Amino acid sequence: MSEEQIDAASPLTVLKGVGPALAIKLERLGLFRVEDLFFLLPLRYEDRTQLVRLGALVAGTRCLVSGEVLLAETVYRGRRNLLVRIADGSGQLTLRFFHFSRSQQAQFQPGVRVTCFGDARQGAAGFEMIHPEYRLLREGQDAAINESLTPIYPATEGVQQGRLRNLTDQALRVLHQSPPPELLPRDIRDELSMPSLADAIDYLHRPPPEADVELLQQGLHPCQQRLAFEELLAHYLSLRNLRTLADTKAAPALRNGEVEVARFIDGLPFDLTSAQQRVVDEILVDLARPHPMMRLIQGDVGSGKTVVAAIACLKAIVCGVQAAIMAPTELLAEQHWRSFSEWLRPLEIEPAWLAGSQRAAARRKTLASIADGSAQLVVGTHALFQEGVDFHNLGLVVIDEQHRFGVHQRMALRDKGASELGHPHQLVMTATPIPRTLAMAAYADLDTSIIDELPPGRQPVKTVAIPATRRDEIIARVRSACAAGQQAFWVCPLIEESDVLDFQAAEASYAMLTEALPELRVGLVHGRMRAAEKERGMQAFKDGVIQLLVATTVIEVGVDVPNARLMIIENAERMGLSQLHQLRGRVGRGPMQSHCVLVYKPPLGSNSRTRLAVLRDTNDGFVVAQRDLELRGPGELLGTRQTGLPDYRIANLVRDASLMPKVQLAAEALRQSPAADAAAIIRRWLGDAGRYGKV
Ligand code: ADP
Ligand code: MG
Repeated sequence: MSEEQIDAASPLTVLKGVGPALAIKLERLGLFRVEDLFFLLPLRYEDRTQLVRLGALVAGTRCLVSGEVLLAETVYRGRRNLLVRIADGSGQLTLRFFHFSRSQQAQFQPGVRVTCFGDARQGAAGFEMIHPEYRLLREGQDAAINESLTPIYPATEGVQQGRLRNLTDQALRVLHQSPPPELLPRDIRDELSMPSLADAIDYLHRPPPEADVELLQQGLHPCQQRLAFEELLAHYLSLRNLRTLADTKAAPALRNGEVEVARFIDGLPFDLTSAQQRVVDEILVDLARPHPMMRLIQGDVGSGKTVVAAIACLKAIVCGVQAAIMAPTELLAEQHWRSFSEWLRPLEIEPAWLAGSQRAAARRKTLASIADGSAQLVVGTHALFQEGVDFHNLGLVVIDEQHRFGVHQRMALRDKGASELGHPHQLVMTATPIPRTLAMAAYADLDTSIIDELPPGRQPVKTVAIPATRRDEIIARVRSACAAGQQAFWVCPLIEESDVLDFQAAEASYAMLTEALPELRVGLVHGRMRAAEKERGMQAFKDGVIQLLVATTVIEVGVDVPNARLMIIENAERMGLSQLHQLRGRVGRGPMQSHCVLVYKPPLGSNSRTRLAVLRDTNDGFVVAQRDLELRGPGELLGTRQTGLPDYRIANLVRDASLMPKVQLAAEALRQSPAADAAAIIRRWLGDAGRYGKV
């Protein structure tokens, strides 16, 4: 194929030097077409655009130097070293090799000229470079100085940097001949002073010598930001399309039941906070529309999301459709089942229960009642949406602790519930508040409501961090709290990825505590217990029969026991910020002062120290979440693997958070503009299918 026929969409095999074997290796890097090379950005850059004089070397810098060999010798320093001394008239430098061949050694004859690239460091006898890249210069040959900064690409096994540079050279020639279409409208680019796509790509692959390497290294160069912006925009547009798609679907318009809802709210043992009331109103407006609601409720731990969900369920039931609520753990599902049973008893609504651990007979009965519609409300785990569960007329789905479920699961649910009524309304609730910019990126397919107020009289939990070496002190604290009629949680060390070890650690703590505190009634709950056993333990704790509950992190989400006012968390240094905030949220649920003790194994690393300090300093879940995002990145914060959050090629949700509001504005503008091609932007970055499903 001649060069003119090659374009951005051509397969990589059109490039010189790419045979089938190399093509397979490149596929592993996600590279299929010439265009893909445009977006394979260097990880960093090296400056080989100027020779540094040996007299001007600075320790700790990576640089290009050139000189004449004065002498080469092998010495023994525990092992064999080859030392080559070079000079350029301004100073001297020693090259040091630990691995070298005889022929290599023979190359370095006095008088031979050589160029080297490496890290200059201060050695015992002046500057040295260990294992520099080097090249011998022929008679009269100049040191090869590059015209642009040297890009260092993400490597893959068997594809060397030199090869990637050669391929991107070829790709850039294609870029110059037929640049990819510019998809960002001029006015948007002008307003944000962004370069064109082609210019940005060209610059990032071969930055000129005067480029700001520092800025490039941080990913904050306008050219990088230009590409990150377009990528974020593509994802955002794709999610917004999903949201718009929902408005083309039918859903039951739930308009009746005002009286019942008002009566229910009146009958609660507390008044709704104004934030809860506002969110309830938002939900009721959504439910009355003939299109599926897609709403996210964000609220800090203890802000009272459950009762809001209950009101939505009641509305659905009164309007004659089924409602389902799904929680991530059986423990939490069971708790919801109890709360809902209690709240809805006066209305003679009996929620059905569906979970994985259920006996076959009970399960069959529940399935039958779900299918014939006699179960108006179903509470359960993800078992709710497995094979064999057929709803009669599902009108509302509530997903609690949404961060455990991803976009894909959300979509699967929506389709699962579809019936002749249309699609069910969807309400999703987060456990942890999500920083605003991250929520924009991850949940753009949802409308958001925020419960930004705690029930009255709540006092911030007082938090301290104490080394495990002072265990006696901590036990004494538990003793006196329980003597004063309070209850306490003792959360055991989290042992990654091992149920067995997790459970052994819990058993060990339980044994230690029953021995140390013989006067207390101590209970144990862990992940390997049968659901019924777990539930018995929890219920005994709720009823005050158990004073101290030893638990693994199964109690992380949702558990609600207002009389528990002391939370001890072992090995706090190993847990993430949001998880600690969740655990701490198990106390401070009543009007009295609660305490949280973060027990750590010294010495503390700096990251752990920071985390514990954040918790000591704030009780505000939004602040905690922001710090968590900065410390760990979005995947962790949203619950890793399952989030459905894609890997971005260029954008970074933490680094580029400040772009999100602009992305949002640009997306709305684009969607209004008939000339703009939003679909092409999505295709470029997410591929033909659009990563979130059909768009
Ligand atoms: P979360 O938002 O963490 O899911 P919950 O729904 O579990 O919070 O509510 C926490 C506690 O606050 C529960 O005991 C609940 O009954 C109580 N609660 C909820 N709303 C109010 C309110 N408006 N006034 C007083 N207590 C409330
Ligand atoms: Mg909750």
